[in-house]
Amino acid sequence: MPELPEVEIIRLGLQKYLVGRKIEDVEVRVPKIFVGDKKNVIGATITGLNRIGKGLIIELDNDFVLAVHLKMTGQLVYVDNKIKGPILSPKVGGEKLPSKYSHIIFTLDNNSFLYYNDLRRFGWIKVVRKDKLMQIPFFKELGPEPLKDLTLKKFKDIVLKSNLVIKVLLMDQKKIGGIGNIYANDALFEARIDPRRSAKQISPEEIERLYKAILKVLQKGLDYGGSSDENFVNALGQKGNYQKHTLVYGRAGETCPVCGGIIQKIKLGGRGTYFCSKCQH
Ligand SMILES: [Zn+2]
Repeated sequence: MPELPEVEIIRLGLQKYLVGRKIEDVEVRVPKIFVGDKKNVIGATITGLNRIGKGLIIELDNDFVLAVHLKMTGQLVYVDNKIKGPILSPKVGGEKLPSKYSHIIFTLDNNSFLYYNDLRRFGWIKVVRKDKLMQIPFFKELGPEPLKDLTLKKFKDIVLKSNLVIKVLLMDQKKIGGIGNIYANDALFEARIDPRRSAKQISPEEIERLYKAILKVLQKGLDYGGSSDENFVNALGQKGNYQKHTLVYGRAGETCPVCGGIIQKIKLGGRGTYFCSKCQH
């Protein structure tokens, strides 16, 4: 699933290509993904791109916005005359767009297109009035997010009040926005904290270490253009590189980069959890 760095990379790319483009048509091939009336966006010009947690907002020059959540496998890929189109792996829809996974197609002026592809079809695009955006449950319930409004003080409060194990808490979007499985695993390794520990039993010093670790791994994710171990591609359909630089995520059975022990994989809250039992306490 795209996490904060991946959605931010998509936002930055789309901002470069979409701002100023007019939406000429919207083809909805899978109705359940597109919520709202496409008449409210056809004819509108895109004025900006925002991100809230893992959600993406396409701002328009009328009273509406397009709110997008990519969920597990969603992609937003821009193609125009100069950019010939990405070479996507067959796994995510073949080499040419539109593919069988292109469920929503925006035709823009200047002979350009924005494709919403989604292998597993869990994502959504909602047409919503600007003043009603924050009433969408996902946005309304979202916790503060790192690199934005999650201060160390807020983070300490959230951790010490929680009854969850720390890794499950880090991924709970209602408590903290933007962190998913990849960066939760790596942040806990970076902070040398065992992912199975009860959040409220973590010491103030450890919480501070974890806070810094979260910021560090998310920034690293941004610097490497996101993580593409599954379906993530940027606005031009290109893969990121963080997956080559993960600390423990996806590395079960490999050697720990710090102690030389073996990285283990267990399930925690239903998700694959990677850690080094020698380094993380
Ligand atoms: Zn180790």
